[in-house]
Amino acid sequence: MGVRTIPFSRVTCDGNELKYVREVIESGWLTTAGKCGEFERRFADAVQGRYACAVNSATAALHLACEAVGIGPGDKVFVPTMTFTASAEVIRYLGADPILLDVEFGTALITPAILTEALRRHPDAKALVLVHFGGQAADMDGILALTRAHGLRLIEDAAHAFPTRYQGRPIGSFGDATCFSFYANKTITTGEGGMLVTNDEAIFKRAKVMRLHGINRDIWDRFTAKKANWEYDVVAPGFKYNMPDVNAAIGLAQLERADEFRRERQRCAEFYYRNLTGVECLDLPVYRGAAEDHSWHLFWVVLNEKCPLDRNTFIGRLNEAGIGTSVHYKPLHRMTYYRERYGLRPEDYPAAERHWRGVVTLPVYPTLPDEDLAHVCQTVIGILSPQHRG
Ligand SMILES: *Cc1c(COP(=O)(O)O)cnc(C)c1O
Repeated sequence: MGVRTIPFSRVTCDGNELKYVREVIESGWLTTAGKCGEFERRFADAVQGRYACAVNSATAALHLACEAVGIGPGDKVFVPTMTFTASAEVIRYLGADPILLDVEFGTALITPAILTEALRRHPDAKALVLVHFGGQAADMDGILALTRAHGLRLIEDAAHAFPTRYQGRPIGSFGDATCFSFYANKTITTGEGGMLVTNDEAIFKRAKVMRLHGINRDIWDRFTAKKANWEYDVVAPGFKYNMPDVNAAIGLAQLERADEFRRERQRCAEFYYRNLTGVECLDLPVYRGAAEDHSWHLFWVVLNEKCPLDRNTFIGRLNEAGIGTSVHYKPLHRMTYYRERYGLRPEDYPAAERHWRGVVTLPVYPTLPDEDLAHVCQTVIGILSPQHRG
């Protein structure tokens, strides 16, 4: 019918990805080896962290981080309700209990005020999994003051937040450990993959051992050391979370373009702000730092109480017009597992509820042209204007 289709997300993979993957294939060693180590070093440099441990997902990185800081059965760990289930499920892997927190409306972030109230109710909490929602850094000065004062371990879920900065300093060296995602629709990708970054040598060493079966030395060292040495020891029942070199090769090529990708996503966000600001039925995301510090992973609108359409009808209309969208997120307190296990009630999460009722995430990716952005904005405004409501 000649309807233009605009997907929600699209990877940009036309740099050195093939070249580096070819090098890996030609080397004959496809799993974790030199390319992985190189990706770790370069990524650590990019986020100004001391140590980086590449894994096969951000979920794995979060699990390793929680394990390495000592979270165990019965511990309480704060997590925002407005996140992907991975942020909370890893706490359950370890037998600990997620305490779901409401977020600030507008940013969908945990604020120092929210954390203060949570600490008043749960002074015995052990850790916070902090999500830099959409790619905007949380208020790190305020959050760190509280985590330090209360002895809370801080694990950052930075799945949206590369490259993100807080007041000019990259996310990656603030908390005990920071976890990044390279899933296909994230800001850079390895297909599937993740990275744990930390400045704490003990956390790094533990994560490296647990990443590969609890084996106390690197398989790669074992096969490449000058002296033949088959021997290794197992010091814990670890996991199988290593990142293959094929994936690391893609990551190295993506990393070279991370700043360019970020600038292009900022262009998308700025286009939306220019064209959608002032539309009565819409609440737009709030950001407070410099636009250059934001990764702009997600751009969402929230249909507010002035909007005569509900969110799902609105999504249906956009879909008919060929525009892909997503929803970030149905909050965890509404998910059967968390709701039933912890007896959670929506009225305890007013800001997350307000966000969730109206939220629609619009397309943002480096190759999204201004003409398509204009089409999205015109379609959104058309659907919301009275004569078109039908
Ligand atoms: C994507 C995502 C994850 C999980 O990342 P994987 O690499 O797919 O494991 C975790 N947290 C948030 C907030 C995410 O968006």
